[in-house]
Amino acid sequence: MVVHHGTTTSSYRHRTLPDEHGRFGEFGGRYVPEGLMAALLDLEEAYEIALTDHDFIEELTDLLRERIGRPTLLHKAQNFADLLAVPDVRVYLKREDMAHTGAHKINNALGQALLARRMRKSRIIAETGAGQHGVAVATACAMLGMACTIYMGSDDMRRQESNVVRMKLLGAEVRSVSTGGGRLKSAISEAVRDWVTNVDTTYYLFGTAAGPSPYPAMVRDFQTVIGRETRTQILASEGRLPDCVIACVGGGSNAIGMFHPFLNDPEVRLIGVEAAGRGMATGDHAATLAAGSPGEMDGAYSYVLQDEDGQIAGTHSIAAGLDYPGVGPELSYLKDSGRVIYRAATDTVALRGMRALSRSEGIIAALECAHAVGYLLDQAHHGDLPVGALIVVCISGRGDKDLAIAADLLDS
Ligand SMILES: *Cc1c(COP(=O)(O)O)cnc(C)c1O
Repeated sequence: MVVHHGTTTSSYRHRTLPDEHGRFGEFGGRYVPEGLMAALLDLEEAYEIALTDHDFIEELTDLLRERIGRPTLLHKAQNFADLLAVPDVRVYLKREDMAHTGAHKINNALGQALLARRMRKSRIIAETGAGQHGVAVATACAMLGMACTIYMGSDDMRRQESNVVRMKLLGAEVRSVSTGGGRLKSAISEAVRDWVTNVDTTYYLFGTAAGPSPYPAMVRDFQTVIGRETRTQILASEGRLPDCVIACVGGGSNAIGMFHPFLNDPEVRLIGVEAAGRGMATGDHAATLAAGSPGEMDGAYSYVLQDEDGQIAGTHSIAAGLDYPGVGPELSYLKDSGRVIYRAATDTVALRGMRALSRSEGIIAALECAHAVGYLLDQAHHGDLPVGALIVVCISGRGDKDLAIAADLLDS
C-alpha cells in the first residue's frame, strides 16, 4: 500500500527521545505518587506495542482521513504575505482549523481513545479548562462508542457554557469541580483521583505534550501528523523545505507536532510563540519558556512559571489555550539545546494577527495561533524578515470560540 502523507508505521516510530526514563535530557520523567507509577508503566508498554502494530496505525490513519478530514490543507496565503510588505516572501498556513471539531486537539484525542479501546478500558476520563480538550475527547469517544467523563472546574463551566453543552450533546458526563476556585487545577486533581481509584477500567486521556512520561512523547507522536503532512505538502508545492516554521506554544502539542519532523533539518528555523499577555514587564503573561525556570509541575520536570519559593505563578493570556504556567518537557529540552527559538506575543499583537488574517485571507483563526500570526506581522514591520523567505505558520484552530473576545476588538 502506498501512503502519501507520511503515515506509515515507521514514521510514527521515528524518534530518539525520550530515553528509557522518559527524559528529554534533564527534562521530563515521572513525578507522581506511587499509586500512579504502575498505571503509567502499563500505559507506556501498551503504547510502545501499539506503535509497532500495523493494524493500529492503519485504523488511526483511516479514521484521520475519513472522519477528521486529513490531510488538512497547506494553504498559500498570498494576500497575507502581501501585507508583510517584504519582497518575495511566501507564507503557507497549515490549516488545523479545518480538521473536524476545528482544531488540532482531535489528532491526539482520537489516537489515545483508540489506544484505550485496544487496552480494553471501558471508560475514558479527562479534565478540561476552557473545554476545547473536553470537546475533542467527547467527540473521539462518540466515534468509538466509549463512555466518557470530563472533569471541569465549576467556574470554567460557567464561563464556557457552550463547550459544556457540546460535551453533553456528544454523550459525555461532565462533572463539575467546585473546590479550589473551580478552575483547571482542581479538575486535574479530581481526574487523577478518579484514575487512581478506577485504574483497571479507566483510561486517562491527557490533552497536551506535557505531564508525566509517557504522555509527552505519546501526545507528540499523535500530533506529528501535522508536521509530516506539512513536510510532504511544502516539498510538493515549493520543491524545498521552508526557511522558518512558526507555531504557538501553550502546553506545546501543536508546536512539537509541527516541529518534530523538521528537527533534523538545521536549515529550517523553528520558532515557538508564547503568550506575553499584557506585556512581559507587567508579569501578567504565560510565557513559560521565555520567563520561567526549571522546576517540577504536573508530574514532570520542565520550565515552569514560579516565584523564588517555587510557588506556581498566576498567568494571563487572552487565549485560554495558552494560559498555562507549564510547558512540555521536550520543548524545554529544545530551548536549552537551542534548536527551537521562543518568542512571546502580547494580547494586542494576537488580536492584530486575528484581524489581519481574517481580512486578508477570510480565515478567522483561534486566538492561540493568532499569536504566531501577529508575531510574524511584527517581525515584518520591524524589518526582521529576510527577502524571499519561505514561511509556514501553524493555524492550530478556528476562532469561533473567541468571538465574544473579538467583539471588543471591533469596537476599538
Ligand atoms: C489548546 C489549544 C492550543 C494550545 O495547546 P498546545 O498543546 O500548546 O497546542 C493552541 N491552539 C488551539 C486552537 C487550542 O485549542
